[in-house]
Amino acid sequence: MNGTNRYVTLKIDGAIVHAMAGTSVLDTALSYGICIPHLCHMKDLMPAGLCRLCIVEHVKNGKSKVTASCTLEVEEGMVILAHTEKILKARKNIAEMLVAEAPNSRAIQDIAVRCGVKNVRYPFRNKACVLCGRCVRACGEIWRSKSLGFVGRGSERRVALPLNERPEYCKKCNACIDLCPMTITPCPGPMKKGEEYLCGLCESQLSMAKDIEDTCVSCRLGDGFDCVRKRS
Ligand code: SF4
Ligand code: SF4
Repeated sequence: MNGTNRYVTLKIDGAIVHAMAGTSVLDTALSYGICIPHLCHMKDLMPAGLCRLCIVEHVKNGKSKVTASCTLEVEEGMVILAHTEKILKARKNIAEMLVAEAPNSRAIQDIAVRCGVKNVRYPFRNKACVLCGRCVRACGEIWRSKSLGFVGRGSERRVALPLNERPEYCKKCNACIDLCPMTITPCPGPMKKGEEYLCGLCESQLSMAKDIEDTCVSCRLGDGFDCVRKRS
């Protein structure tokens, strides 16, 4: 039996699950309805480990290590804790920072609700891109186009077209727009430069967090990877 069709057994939050070797812990959890919040990950794209929302504790030899579950492959006998107090706190903080980066993204607000964020302590930055890389990977891996790429470093990092123009080899598939969390259910509320704040709708959504914690909020970022909790 080779590694591609070998199944392994592991535990996620105490549940015994099975997955084909080579599968990520995140995809395995999602396929069993264990929702680990995530942003940059999509099932058919190479894992990038960029957003860090999908962090889990990997317990091995009595020690636990916090790691992104999208880049962590399943192993026989593995023990994964996806919802410990430590993880929930760290994940909530990451989600809160994401809302501050892009308060006008309803997709990100949905994730924040899922992570229990009720208010945002960081200054709003109203960014147009959270550097999740979904567009870049979809363009290169699904459409084999490579019309998009990351340029710059640190705070200068951004997604760019070659020479800032749509190249001839762009397939005009629109995947880069359809998969972008900034365009999925965009916030209809006011968000002018210098006037960044959450509109009433989003604020009330966040304040509901305590009532729906650990419940699927139909974030739509499950589209494309068969999240079993996804509503139709
Ligand atoms: S529309 Fe063009 S740039 Fe966007 S994903 Fe498709 S091929 Fe890439
Ligand atoms: S443009 Fe959208 S999909 Fe692309 S990296 Fe930025 S937030 Fe992600």
